[in-house]
Amino acid sequence: MPGMDTKDIKIHGASLDKAVREKLPASHINEILGRLKSDVVATEQILRETKIGMIVNKLRGHADKAVSELAKDIVNKWKKDVSVKPKSSSSSEPKGGVSMKREVSTNGGNSGKDTPNKSTPTPSAGRKAGGASVDPMKRSHKTDGVECNIFGDDEVRTKSLAMIYDGLVIGAQATPDEVFKIAKDTEHHLYRNHGNKTDTAYRNKLRSLFFNLKDLKNPNLRKNVLSGRIEPMRLATMTSEEMASAERKREDEKIEQENMKEAMVAKAPTSVTDQLRCGKCGKRNVSYSQAQTRSADEPMTTFCECLQCGHRWKFS
Ligand SMILES: [Zn+2]
Repeated sequence: MPGMDTKDIKIHGASLDKAVREKLPASHINEILGRLKSDVVATEQILRETKIGMIVNKLRGHADKAVSELAKDIVNKWKKDVSVKPKSSSSSEPKGGVSMKREVSTNGGNSGKDTPNKSTPTPSAGRKAGGASVDPMKRSHKTDGVECNIFGDDEVRTKSLAMIYDGLVIGAQATPDEVFKIAKDTEHHLYRNHGNKTDTAYRNKLRSLFFNLKDLKNPNLRKNVLSGRIEPMRLATMTSEEMASAERKREDEKIEQENMKEAMVAKAPTSVTDQLRCGKCGKRNVSYSQAQTRSADEPMTTFCECLQCGHRWKFS
C-alpha cells in the first residue's frame, strides 16, 4: 500500500543499510528497494527526516547493476515526487521564469480582454486613452489624462484614488479605463473596510498599498492585480507581507528545491575504508562520502579525506 509512514521508511532504511554493510545478496537489497519504490511518496520532509534519500542515493553506485539501476529509478521518482508540489501550498503563484513570461503576455493581451468596464463608464477616466508616446514605466494618472476627483469635495479619497492608479499603472500595458476601474474598486473596498471613513487607519492602509504597488522589485503584484488574479477586494485587505510575497514565494520555492537536493545528497554519511590509499602519505585510512553532484544520469562523485594527513581529493 502506498504511503509508508516515516517510521516504516526508517526501518526499511536501516535494513537496507544493514543489507549493504553485510553484503547480503542483491536480490535481498532489491526486495527492500522495491518496497520503497512502490510504497514511498517522497516529500522533502520525509527525505530529510528518514535520510532514505541518501541511503538509496548511495546505492546508485552499487556494484550490482540491478541494484544500482533500481536505486537510480527510485531517486528519479522521488525527485519527481518532490518537485510536483501540491498546488495548495504554493497558492496560485506559478513558479519559474517561464510562467513569468506567460504572465507578461497575458497582461499584454489584457487590453483586448472583454472586461466589463465598458458597462460602467467613468466619465472622467481615460480621456486621452493613454499616451502611446509615454514610457510605460513613467505612466501616471497625469500622463494618462485621468481625472480622479469623482468623490465630490472629498480630497482625501481623490488623492487615494490617484495614488492607487499611479502605483498600478507603472509599466502597465492596460488602458487607462482598465486601470481606473481597478483603482476605483480598490479604493471603494478600502473605504468600506474602514467604515466609510478616511481615518488614520484608512490612510495607513492606503500608504502601504501605494508603496507595495509601486515597488519596482515587485512587478508581479501590479501584474496580478491588473490581470484580475488578485481582485480589488482582496488587494484592499492584503498585508504588506502578502503583497511583498509575490516575489518572495518564487525565491522560497527556489530555496526549497535547493534544500531538497541537499537532503538527497549533500550530507551523505562518511565511511572509513582501507580500500582507498592516500596519494600524499600513502596510508590507507581514508574517509569518503558520495554525492551526486549534477544530473541524475551522471556518475556519483566520491569525496575522500585522508584521516592521517588531511589530504582531500575526489573522483567519480
Ligand atoms: Zn594522507
